[in-house]
Amino acid sequence: ILQLYTPLNYFGTYYRLIQKAFIDMENMFDLLDEDREVKDEVNAPSLRVIKGDIEFKDVCFHYTAERPILKNISFIVPQGKTVALVGPSGSGKTTIIRLLFRFYDICSGEITIDGQNIAKVTQKSLRKHIGVVPQDTVLFNSDIRYNIRYGRVSATDEEVEAAAKGSDIHSRILDFPDGYKTVVGERGLKLSGGEKQRVAIARTLLKAPEIVLLDEATSALDTKTERHIQDSLTKVCTNKTTIIVAHRLSTIIHADEILVIREGEIIERGRHEELLKLNGSYSEMWHQQIQKRGHTSESDNSTLET
Ligand code: ATP
Repeated sequence: ILQLYTPLNYFGTYYRLIQKAFIDMENMFDLLDEDREVKDEVNAPSLRVIKGDIEFKDVCFHYTAERPILKNISFIVPQGKTVALVGPSGSGKTTIIRLLFRFYDICSGEITIDGQNIAKVTQKSLRKHIGVVPQDTVLFNSDIRYNIRYGRVSATDEEVEAAAKGSDIHSRILDFPDGYKTVVGERGLKLSGGEKQRVAIARTLLKAPEIVLLDEATSALDTKTERHIQDSLTKVCTNKTTIIVAHRLSTIIHADEILVIREGEIIERGRHEELLKLNGSYSEMWHQQIQKRGHTSESDNSTLET
C-alpha cells in the first residue's frame, strides 16, 4: 500500500502545484515573482492611461532564439475598439496578448499604450489597467464570492453580486447549496467550462479596466450557453479597448478589425465583409466553418481552426 501511496501522493502534490500556477495569467506572475525575467527599470514611472489606445509597432518575438514566433507585427487598437486575432493553432495569437501583458519582453519593435512604451513603465501599473479573460479559468479553493472578488479585492458584497448578475451567473449561484458561500474549485463544487468563463467575466467586470484581453476557449459549449457567454462578453468589452483571440465566427463578425495570423505574420487584415471579398484565407476558414455547421446539429461548435 505504501508503495502505491507514495507516487500517488507525489502526483497529487504536483498536480496541485501545477494547478495553482495556472490560476490565471495575472496570478501566475505573482507566483513566479522571484525568477521571472521581465524586470522593471530602475525608477520606472507608472503607466498613465487616459484613453487606452494600443499600438504594436514592428514587433518581433521568439521564446527561443532558433525559432522566431512573431515577425514584424504592427497594428493599432484605438480606444474602445475591438481587434480580433484569428488563424491556425500555433500561429502566435495568444503570444500577442501575453506580450501586451508583458509576460515577456519583445526582441525588437515597440508596444505602446497611450504612447507609453509598456517596457518602460512598472508592470504593476500596466496590469492594473488590463483585464484578462483567459482560455481556461482555474478557481481558488474558496467560496464563489471570494473567487469573483479576486477581480477587485476591495469590492463590496453588493458589487460582487452586481458583477455576477452582469456575467449571468448570479441566479446559478443562488441555486448552489450554500449560495455565495459555496466552496468551488478542486475540493469544492466543480463548475462547468461555461460557468468558469462567467466567473472570469465577473472578475473583469469588477476590475473595470480600460483594456480587455479575451482568449476565447476552444472547448465547445452548447449553443445556448455560447449565446449567453457572448452577451456577457459584449458587456465586459463595451467601451473598452479589446483584443480578442477568436476561435468562433460569432465573435468576429462585428470586430473593428480582424487580423489573420499565420506563422507569426499578419497575412490579411480588415473587417469581416472586406475579408470575405478578398477570397483568401479568412474567406476559406469562414466557408469551412459554415459547411461544418451546415452538416452537423445545432449544438455543434466547430471552431475556425482546422
Ligand atoms: P492556439 O490557437 O492553439 O491557442 P496560438 O495561435 O494562440 O495557438 P501561441 O500560443 O501564441 O499560438 O503559440 C505560438 C507558438 O509559440 C507555438 O508554436 C507554440 O508552440 C510556441 N510557444 C507558446 N508558448 C511557448 C513557451 N512558453 N515556450 C516556447 N514556445 C512556446
